[in-house]
Amino acid sequence: MRAKDRILVVGAGLSGAVIARELAQEGFQVEVIDARDHVAGNCHTQRDPDTGVLVHVYGPHIFHTDDTEVWDYVNGFQTFRPYKNRVKTVSGGQVYSLPINLHTINQFFGTCFRPDEARAFVEAQADTSITEPRTFEEQALRFVGRDLYAAFFEGYTRKQWGCPPADLPAAILKRLPVRFNYEDDYFSHAHQGMPEDGYTAMVENILDHPDITVKLETRFDRTQSDGFAHVFYSGPLDGYFGYAHGRLGYRTLDFERFTYQGDYQGCAVMNYADLAVPYTRITEHKHFSPWEAHEGSVCYREFSRACGPDDIPYYPIRLVEEKALLADYAALAERETDVTFVGRLATYRYLDMDVTIREALDTARLYLERRATGGVM
Ligand code: FAD
Ligand code: UDP
Repeated sequence: MRAKDRILVVGAGLSGAVIARELAQEGFQVEVIDARDHVAGNCHTQRDPDTGVLVHVYGPHIFHTDDTEVWDYVNGFQTFRPYKNRVKTVSGGQVYSLPINLHTINQFFGTCFRPDEARAFVEAQADTSITEPRTFEEQALRFVGRDLYAAFFEGYTRKQWGCPPADLPAAILKRLPVRFNYEDDYFSHAHQGMPEDGYTAMVENILDHPDITVKLETRFDRTQSDGFAHVFYSGPLDGYFGYAHGRLGYRTLDFERFTYQGDYQGCAVMNYADLAVPYTRITEHKHFSPWEAHEGSVCYREFSRACGPDDIPYYPIRLVEEKALLADYAALAERETDVTFVGRLATYRYLDMDVTIREALDTARLYLERRATGGVM
């Protein structure tokens, strides 16, 4: 095997696994390393030792996409069971349906509105003086008005991001729809589901190829690139450069595990909108696998806080300061030859799993194309 045919992939999450597979299938020898003792990155699932329930170790993960090629791709490595994410939220001592829909609106205002009436009522609450919402708060006030904003978004968002919603970009709220019908599915995508044996089993199958070797508990340093034709790096961008310009800001999560005999909350995800409750949500994992029967239940209370140097980075903050720092690191990354920065950490973006897979497939294909035509990447 010539040295130029060896590829190093840093990170065995979805980004790394998909690229490794695409290149191995085309005849490259791929070595995948990961600092953790398991594959699948933040999508990792494992059986809880006490209850046998399949747990989403780094927080709840629901697969949803409109990208049919990506949907077919994941179904090639795992049987997906139908799964709809029906989230509830506790606000002011009541349980509501989320995203805000006609049921939420009627319950909250004590009304019996039909769709058009609800739309007109909510529009009357909206602050129409805001023509181009820039911040999270402006976006909320513009589209749902102060009461719904205070009940469902303000407290939750402060807990999640550790800052006033007026300091956050509008784009964060744009991820959540407001519906004037009784549709209570969190996502509106054509394809949605849950891998029957979990995401880790799926990623193990993606990596199961004779030309892929996986080394766990192996942290990358740049001397390891020697002897490889190309490196695909899905670790933190600032970490690659030894945090030379400082650290990109992230929120991290703490999970407080508890068990219960029976059904603790009746659904997989219950949000807590009030600021007085210190956690953002409780996940009851057995509801992610309704086809399995478990008497015991395992739940995670989820707390969000600023990410320290030894914590796991979860949500990129991407405020003005971070964006300036990101530009500095992006300039350094531009100058690296034979390295491609991929995935949520190395590009410092919030990426859903389907987008991660789409980008990984496109990146691998571009590399193969460039190799075939003698170009560089
Ligand atoms: P990661 O999964 O983070 O993988 C990167 C890997 O690189 C990790 O395994 C890490 O250990 C390894 N690594 C890092 N640095 C080094 C190093 N120096 N040396 C060696 N290895 C290293 N998406 C959805 O589509 N639906 C959801 O419901 C959903 N829920 C989410 C909930 C939460 C709380 C969060 C934070 C994200 C959620 N996502 C969801 C997004 C999903 O987690 C990402 O799309 C996915 O994890 C991205 O994969 P990745 O391979 O880019 O990154
Ligand atoms: N959000 C909120 N209340 C909720 C759920 C979400 O205010 O009950 C806000 C919060 O700021 C969050 C954003 O809406 O970051 C986007 O929600 P999403 O469910 O996409 O968050 P994620 O999947 O990132 O946890």
